Amino acid sequence: MARKKLLAGNWKMHKTRAEASEFFQSFTKLLGNVGDVTRSVEVGFGVPPTLFDTCLAKSQGTGVKILAQNCHYETHGAFTGEISVPQLLDAHLQGSIIGHSERRQYYNETNEAVGKKWNVLVKAGLLPIVCVGETRQEREAGKTLDVVKTQIDEALKFVSDEARSKEFVIAYEPVWAIGTGLTATPEQAEDVHKVIRDLLTRTFGEARSSTIKILYGGSMNAANCKDLLSKPNIDGGLVGGASLKPEDFASMVLTAKGLS
Ligand code: PEP
Repeated sequence: MARKKLLAGNWKMHKTRAEASEFFQSFTKLLGNVGDVTRSVEVGFGVPPTLFDTCLAKSQGTGVKILAQNCHYETHGAFTGEISVPQLLDAHLQGSIIGHSERRQYYNETNEAVGKKWNVLVKAGLLPIVCVGETRQEREAGKTLDVVKTQIDEALKFVSDEARSKEFVIAYEPVWAIGTGLTATPEQAEDVHKVIRDLLTRTFGEARSSTIKILYGGSMNAANCKDLLSKPNIDGGLVGGASLKPEDFASMVLTAKGLS
């Protein structure tokens, strides 16, 4: 079954409100009829909380999704610096990136926490983009497939049967390719995506698995996205650096549209 491609920007800790406004002004202009584009390609941005309102206002009516980059799995409480799923709902967001390698590495985000976040997000009707991926050492030790399978299986232990039936997206992001300019070759990425697809088929059955998007992330840019996005199990991209420049990201979205 043909899956609609999804290109999601990850702005990390970048941009002021003025910069975000300028971005959307240029980005929407470059895309032309944005509503028409987002009918064939899904587009989203994971942005910092200070930019939620600005990005929602600037993207209103375009079909572009505004997402968080993280959330807590508790609904409220003494968790200084955190943001809850009810707060994301209240802010009119549509989902959140979870388990990004930077959060796993710097903030000890575990597979258990990722699973709990996944569970509460989908129960609230929000879309989780669940990031998985191996480090350079793990790849060199031949452990890539085990690492990725374990990350998904361990997280799923904390996703209830009811929550499992709701939409989610997996982002395969080899850690060695994030922000480094090193990209997995389309073949390297497709090999891992195929293993993830097989795991999803074993877990959810063929029909459901064929609807689940698996994104690639790791130095994807306007020059290399076409080859990556042409692979059968690469359903889009989670894009860091190249999503900060409207020209680059618009070009990637239009490339994805051309492949749809
Ligand atoms: C990311 O942070 O999710 C990412 C893929 O970053 P970059 O595109 O800059 O490698």
